[in-house]
Amino acid sequence: MRCPFCHHEESKVTDSRNAFELNAIRRRRECCQCMQRFTTFETIDLTLQVKKRDGTFEDFKEEKLIQGLDAACRHTRVSHDEVRRLADQVKGDLMRRGVREISSRELGDLVMQHLQKIDVVAYIRFACVYKRFKDVRELLEAIQSIVPEATLKEEELSDATEEK
Ligand SMILES: [Zn+2]
Repeated sequence: MRCPFCHHEESKVTDSRNAFELNAIRRRRECCQCMQRFTTFETIDLTLQVKKRDGTFEDFKEEKLIQGLDAACRHTRVSHDEVRRLADQVKGDLMRRGVREISSRELGDLVMQHLQKIDVVAYIRFACVYKRFKDVRELLEAIQSIVPEATLKEEELSDATEEK
């Protein structure tokens, strides 16, 4: 990265942080020659393809992720700001992985890892959409994975399953 002051070719990075709202990495640099400091923004090319269940691909869209999260978090104590933050974290994870494609299942799991720490109800709602539980038993297993003491009586399990 050429120094804007003396045009020397080499600089060293003194600090680096993600600026997700700009899809960029902000770097503080110091010229190796004149020691002047300057900041650069390096744009991240996040062209990520999501492989859907039917085998087709679609572009990863942050807005879509945020919509899904907003829906899961509606009427919970999770605010829209928290949703945006969570989407940023997911994006950060994806960037760090440096992959070009991810299955919708992996993406869903990744989101759930974060959501699980924030709100149980939102987590379960999100899981219902992503995991498409076959029956109430699967749903209960998902709940028990984060709330171990959750139980249903055996007859409640069979009733709910037969309804389908
Ligand atoms: Zn310089």
